[in-house]
Amino acid sequence: MGMTMTQKILAKSAGLDRVEAGQLIEGKLDLVLGNDITTPVAIKEFQKAGLKQVFDRDKIAIVLDHSTPCKDIKSAQLCAICREFSKEHRITHFYDVGQMGVEHALLPEKGLAAPGEVIIGADSHTCTYGALGAFSTGVGSTDMAAGMATGLAWFKVPHAIQVKLTGQLGPYVSGKDVILHLIGMIGVDGALYQSLEFSGEGVASLEMDDRFTICNMAIEAGAKNGIFPVDGKTTAYLKGRVNREYAVFQADPDAVYARQIEIDLSQLRPTVALPHLPSNTKPVDEVAGKPIQQVVIGSCTNGRLKDLREAAAILRGRKVADGVRCIVIPATQQIYLDAMAEGLIADFIQAGAAVSTPTCGPCLGGHMGVLSDNEWAISTTNRNFVGRMGPTSSMIILASPAVAAASAVTGVVTDPAAV
Ligand code: SF4
Repeated sequence: MGMTMTQKILAKSAGLDRVEAGQLIEGKLDLVLGNDITTPVAIKEFQKAGLKQVFDRDKIAIVLDHSTPCKDIKSAQLCAICREFSKEHRITHFYDVGQMGVEHALLPEKGLAAPGEVIIGADSHTCTYGALGAFSTGVGSTDMAAGMATGLAWFKVPHAIQVKLTGQLGPYVSGKDVILHLIGMIGVDGALYQSLEFSGEGVASLEMDDRFTICNMAIEAGAKNGIFPVDGKTTAYLKGRVNREYAVFQADPDAVYARQIEIDLSQLRPTVALPHLPSNTKPVDEVAGKPIQQVVIGSCTNGRLKDLREAAAILRGRKVADGVRCIVIPATQQIYLDAMAEGLIADFIQAGAAVSTPTCGPCLGGHMGVLSDNEWAISTTNRNFVGRMGPTSSMIILASPAVAAASAVTGVVTDPAAV
């Protein structure tokens, strides 16, 4: 019986020839990640356990992204704890204001994730790095503390769902539409503790930024991880970023899947998810005309260069509608610079959008765009849970950058093809 990609990576990390779904293993970690909210909790656990040393200062990443530049006294104090710990343990990959970006956009950009690696992060969207053929998953702060001390974590080897992609995406359709469509099909618990393994000839047509978006939201279907095969686009992305050796794994032809799903990319329409679940999806046409007060374009899901290009292509030469606040947040400093060099930032500002330094900000209702009572936002983020961006009466529609930008121009939910 063959193994899936995820199972092969986990077997290697545990030093085993093979593993079975459901097996408990202890795996060696290639990277342990935390942010300004989860790391202070992990540090407290680390200290409480009397731990004195991290296992490898080069294999820990601490990114101050959620509430930075600090929005209040509490967030400033949390960041101070991270700074002090990073200094004491000489953490190589510590990213503060000015260098930081939203963690799941920053780590791949910095070459900190590579195929075949095992990465845990005290943040649920750590699953993003599966786009590079890595096994990456979110853990709690206690696991982060143990991972920082030992370089090890235990896992239950997941069963897998094979998502076979065929065809090619049409105009104004992107990775966000693919993953929203899939979550709409299987539900927010449709992949509970399973790996979503993407395959098929449709993979080749997807850009890396689309693959990051898709893997980023694997957790929104309850998945343990999402993972793409490594191809020429992956190796081109890694070139110049990752100089260490890495291992490329392929699923065996006789790998066992708990479920197989086929998606014809050419049949997908721009898709949105209505409040209050990412699975509450509809083609944009069915929601068109719904008034919104705020547009957010950014986050670890859709704050990358391709996303900004798609949004700017629609906002260029147009104006944000009266009564709408459009907030654009490049996910990293490098993306910000690249967007500036391409003139995208000027496009946004001339259209009447506010452009922010990289931060999670409004994605979790932190700052830089918190909603008021009964307001509706359309957002390229990944969660539209009750109260995620403001009071419990506020509403979030999840969408792609193209749909968000088109809606910013009209002031109502809009199919980008109609602008
Ligand atoms: Fe989490 Fe949102 Fe930040 Fe992504 S952008 S890491 S989902 S808070």
